[in-house]
Amino acid sequence: MSLKVAVPVNRSGMVDTITRTAPSAHVPGRPRILIVMTALAAAVTLAAACAPAAGPLGRRPAPTGPAEREIVFPVGREVSFSDTFGAPRGGGTRTHEGQDLMAPKMTPLVAAADAEVDWLRWSSSGNAGNMLVLTDDDGWEYWYIHINNDTPGTDDGANRYDQAFADGIRDGQRVRAGEVVAYLGDSGNAEGTSPHLHFEMHDPSGRVINPFNSLAHAELRVRSAAETERDRPFGNLETVQRSGGTVTVRGWGIDAHLDDPVRATVMVDGNPVASASASLSRPDVAAANPGRGSAHGFELSTTSAPAGSEVCVVLHSIGGGGNTRLSCRTAPA
Ligand SMILES: [Zn+2]
Repeated sequence: MSLKVAVPVNRSGMVDTITRTAPSAHVPGRPRILIVMTALAAAVTLAAACAPAAGPLGRRPAPTGPAEREIVFPVGREVSFSDTFGAPRGGGTRTHEGQDLMAPKMTPLVAAADAEVDWLRWSSSGNAGNMLVLTDDDGWEYWYIHINNDTPGTDDGANRYDQAFADGIRDGQRVRAGEVVAYLGDSGNAEGTSPHLHFEMHDPSGRVINPFNSLAHAELRVRSAAETERDRPFGNLETVQRSGGTVTVRGWGIDAHLDDPVRATVMVDGNPVASASASLSRPDVAAANPGRGSAHGFELSTTSAPAGSEVCVVLHSIGGGGNTRLSCRTAPA
């Protein structure tokens, strides 16, 4: 079965055409419906907007042994590095428990494996600053430390969320190897140093492992727009209205993988202010997308959207992975 569905006009005035194909049998736990969206150019991704040119920054060192774990290189471009695992830090009070991968701020950081976001820390303070821990299906952990906290081109410490983490990334979010999850920076105790990713690997028992050979052997891979396209939820931001100090955002969304309601997060000037499942009844959307249930609508309110601020909605699938930034609007007075 295949049919085409016209989605309400989006920000750029285009109508997306969605081709849906239902497989002959439902496999539990697997995508039930393959959805291919065209007009992808209309989908604005922050990664594309902010990523510096991705040429190599030197060459990786030759491995000295087999990989501790086969991974995708956590930085989205080639960088040179040397083995500093175990080197003294903090005036000899501790040792270095990872590898430092130097690159310009806002260089995309990608998931080292198919994994789940186990811990997301959004704070410039402490040694680590902004950080992310991904846990793969076998229990290995990948720690991303010193994630960006600055407005591009500055060292202002503004710590805008969407300049630290990729759209939709939050606790429990499913990610795929090579998917952009965050942006390289200098938060935490790296403020006085060159921007870098401090990368750690912990085995399933929690033991810190030197990731040197894993990094030296790692595949360099950033998931392309064509690859992420089929993971993208789709939907529409319909209205942004004010009543007194409260701004209410309404629209709808559908997960690319699951029949569960997709998650909708409201971002104001780049920072998440409200999030909920798009689980309100929307008979019109259900009629246009048969077989996907009727729970698609979202209605989110915030008192944190002053007049003139930028209001955006990100749709993201916690369990299935993938995200889409819907159109943005200016908060009304
Ligand atoms: Zn380090």
